[in-house]
Amino acid sequence: MERIRLDQAAQQAVDDYLEYRRIVGDDDGGTLFTPEEYERYKEKVIPQRTKNRLYVSYGVPGGMDCKLIGPETECFCTHRYKEHKTDFKTVPDERPLALPCRVGGCRCVTYEYLPLIGGSQPVRCRCKHTAHDHSEGTGHTCTKCSSSCAGFQSSYTCGCGQPSYGHQTLVETRREREERGLPVGQDVPYVAMGGLTGFSSLADGYLRLDPSGVGPPPASVLYPERSGSFQPHVFEEAYGNTSVSSGQVDEASSTGILQPLPDLRTREEKDMAYFERRYQERLKAERMQRVSASRGSRASSKPSRTLPGGKARDTR
Ligand SMILES: [Zn+2]
Ligand SMILES: [Zn+2]
Ligand SMILES: [Zn+2]
Ligand SMILES: [Zn+2]
Ligand SMILES: [Zn+2]
Repeated sequence: MERIRLDQAAQQAVDDYLEYRRIVGDDDGGTLFTPEEYERYKEKVIPQRTKNRLYVSYGVPGGMDCKLIGPETECFCTHRYKEHKTDFKTVPDERPLALPCRVGGCRCVTYEYLPLIGGSQPVRCRCKHTAHDHSEGTGHTCTKCSSSCAGFQSSYTCGCGQPSYGHQTLVETRREREERGLPVGQDVPYVAMGGLTGFSSLADGYLRLDPSGVGPPPASVLYPERSGSFQPHVFEEAYGNTSVSSGQVDEASSTGILQPLPDLRTREEKDMAYFERRYQERLKAERMQRVSASRGSRASSKPSRTLPGGKARDTR
């Protein structure tokens, strides 16, 4: 497999760009912010985003969350969650809270998840036509049936055992989610995180043995003898990011852009791998900072992203 090597500075630039995209999304209107604009944007938007984060899930009211919606999860209108309105200065009081699509010409009035059969095939309406054949606007009327379809409705049975028409897409605030006794995850600066609160969030509810969606503990807990080195999360190991799990981290492969994680099946999964990696990097940077503070100048305060042969001597 061909790998492109990047020097440290180029790699940092790639990482910075990815981070920028995750934070800004499309809010720059296609023209990159200047560094000053970017700083102003972050100062203004991140506190508001953290405070007003909306959690989006799909399930039967009163039941489990069958699906947690992430930035890349498609809506009935075929656009992704991140293409809908997700940032609010003040969260409106009305419920259900509408998150309209922001793509020009799309008449979608609020984000609505459409289940996928086997993880890829969108369900069809009882009239046999696909969601595409139905209007994305209110009522989801069929454009192919003149009168026999009263609006998109699928008889598909979800993994939870309930028909999909009994499900709804729920948008809730942090407080509302906490009141349901569900996890709200860590504060993240990224746009359109939706319902992702942990690293098993993408699994279907009935498969997520851990009902919280927080996921399994990090490898440093499972394998304490390896602690101190960069810990690939169980998620990445499960999807075969062998360059990390074998301890031979290649600079380019660790950015994930020039050498995309080839075994991740969907954009949703790549997304989770990205968030997970950033989280692990932040933990590592914090650990390195503590090490350098306690040892004076031994360790650089700028964390290296690569593993010297998979072994780290700075256990703590
Ligand atoms: Zn749309
Ligand atoms: Zn939509
Ligand atoms: Zn129909
Ligand atoms: Zn139809
Ligand atoms: Zn369900």
